[in-house]
Amino acid sequence: MNKTGKSAIKPRMAVEKLFWKDPYLTHCTAKVMSVENDMITLSHTVAYAFEGGQQSDIGTIGGFEILQARRDGFEIFYTIPENHTLCLGDSVEICIDWEKRYRVMKLHFAAELVLELVYQNYGHPEKIGANITYDKARVDFAWEGNISSTFNFLDAKLAEMIASDYKIICDFDDVENEHRFWQIEGFAQVPCGGTHIKSTKEIGGLTLKRVNPGKGKERIEIYLAD
Ligand SMILES: [Zn+2]
Repeated sequence: MNKTGKSAIKPRMAVEKLFWKDPYLTHCTAKVMSVENDMITLSHTVAYAFEGGQQSDIGTIGGFEILQARRDGFEIFYTIPENHTLCLGDSVEICIDWEKRYRVMKLHFAAELVLELVYQNYGHPEKIGANITYDKARVDFAWEGNISSTFNFLDAKLAEMIASDYKIICDFDDVENEHRFWQIEGFAQVPCGGTHIKSTKEIGGLTLKRVNPGKGKERIEIYLAD
């Protein structure tokens, strides 16, 4: 049993998640490890499956479009079109849409910084939700009042952190259970299984927008400046 209570395959039996070893890999080759109708598993992969608010990669396996990527325990199950011709043991190429993934990585880390800065400077309000796509990220807080009162501080601090080009370290804190974290020395260490950029400078520039999804809840939307 893993942390989420699901029975899970031992990590060494499951897909090798190259998106953790090198989040900048855009393609790899792998063996098809199982085929069940339109669902397959692989020996290696660069294609991330939705977790922790970070959306799945868009891409192809052996030329067939990835329709869905689903994490279950340590394994990732990919759904491809029903008329695919892949067989057990086939050697295939896995390719991801790098432009979209890189935007997701920048927005993901921008959301990490916003979350951490709000936690550290505004009394650790409860995070209600988060979502990261390639055009925007959002973080929802339990918050009375108007969260845009934090924006002068956040804008200045984010600009400073991006300009300072802080190194982002990512690693396992528990290899057996595949628990990962990111760290900026002297700032924060945060558990997260997502794909992260190497330094804050890569984010470039950001725009924050306040959205008010309901009473007692406030949403910060994050956009890349480009
Ligand atoms: Zn993360």
